[in-house]
Amino acid sequence: MIQATNSNELFERAKHSIPGGVNSPVRAFRAVGGNPRFMVSAKGAYMFDEDGNRFIEFINSWGPMILGHAAEIVQDAVQAAIPNSLSFGAPTRREIEIAELIVSMVPGIEKVRMVNSGTEATMSAIRVARGYTGRSKIIKFEGCYHGHGDSFLIAAGSGAITLGVPDSPGVTQGVAADTLTAPYNDLEAVKDLLVANKDQVAAIILEPVAGNMGLVLPKQEFLKGLRELCDQENIVLIFDEVMTGFRLAPGGAQQLFNVTPDMTTLGKIIGGGMPVGAYGGKSEIMDFVAPAGPVYQAGTLSGNPIAMAAGMAMLRHLDNHPEVYERLEKTTTKIVNGIKQNMQKLGLNYTINQVGSMFSIFFTEQPVVDFESAKTSDTALFGRYFNAMLQRGVYLAPSQFEALFVSTAITDELVEKFLQANYEALKEAHEE
Ligand SMILES: *Cc1c(COP(=O)(O)O)cnc(C)c1O
Repeated sequence: MIQATNSNELFERAKHSIPGGVNSPVRAFRAVGGNPRFMVSAKGAYMFDEDGNRFIEFINSWGPMILGHAAEIVQDAVQAAIPNSLSFGAPTRREIEIAELIVSMVPGIEKVRMVNSGTEATMSAIRVARGYTGRSKIIKFEGCYHGHGDSFLIAAGSGAITLGVPDSPGVTQGVAADTLTAPYNDLEAVKDLLVANKDQVAAIILEPVAGNMGLVLPKQEFLKGLRELCDQENIVLIFDEVMTGFRLAPGGAQQLFNVTPDMTTLGKIIGGGMPVGAYGGKSEIMDFVAPAGPVYQAGTLSGNPIAMAAGMAMLRHLDNHPEVYERLEKTTTKIVNGIKQNMQKLGLNYTINQVGSMFSIFFTEQPVVDFESAKTSDTALFGRYFNAMLQRGVYLAPSQFEALFVSTAITDELVEKFLQANYEALKEAHEE
């Protein structure tokens, strides 16, 4: 057993002053049992906790650390920016440079506004889409996460045409009524919603590759079909690429699948580990944003110079080194093939989804193509597997319904270590 005494004490103490002891719910390990580990430092592929344990890690701060922790190019850029003051509340040259870089990298972005989180990006994007179209409703997909804005915390109705119901107390019926939901990968359900809500839908928003119900790939015709429907009905198609942007390709999932949305939301990697988000799209739409246009959106710390320095260093590196993506995919494929071999040896046959450097093991034998099929996973089994991996020094996302991220710091040697732990943990999880 690896020690967790200090983390356990800190968790007890944290609960007195922080709701649930954490500043974001999934960190609390509720879905897997046990207490969260409190981290002290991280470098490359490793995180170090308060008890002196070292973990090979596969969440990378939920994506941003695509180059591993404390990458020198990012750390150096931040250090160079610090002496010039941490914030101005006035424009800087660097904001233009990062905007120009984003526009050059992401196919669907002609103009872009920086914000401070993915949540802010998606909230702002749907406001702009509503202002632009003069319509109120949005369509989202079951199992897609778009941050914690009111409009997005909506569970699925029972039928395809049912109105949304709030997923969280505090979200009003009024807000919920404007959010329609459909199953992921289900174009027919979207068509039904559009017939029932003719000329009322401002935007369709989705993760073009879903990473927040575990990793779920879009069907080829799904993204193209949505693009066509939005063109026919003058609806703003929004790709939420907070997770996939700069991860699956320099231009995100829209580049990989060759479908260009009207608007794109970004986060995670774009800040290189600093709190940054962005939303952008066609100039015609983005010119609705204040002060160019009437839709209000602002931010005291938006475009923060330190955050921009980190983001710029990260994006420049990825833009100049597209081979990073091939390498990441190769490493990830090696991991996924190794897991499949392990399962074969153990007589197991669970579903693994992968695209590029993202993957998920679902503890179900069904193909996972939407939230319904993701939910057939054995989450108790996942919890045992997660803890068995943690005991072997491998830190995974503490929920069945999250994707795993591979960074460039994962070497072949670490792949072997991972696979050895994976074999033992799969075995142990089935013995209990
Ligand atoms: C993480 C995430 C968000 C929310 O971003 P925050 O920075 O946590 O507010 C939104 N959309 C997607 C697809 C995400 O993965």
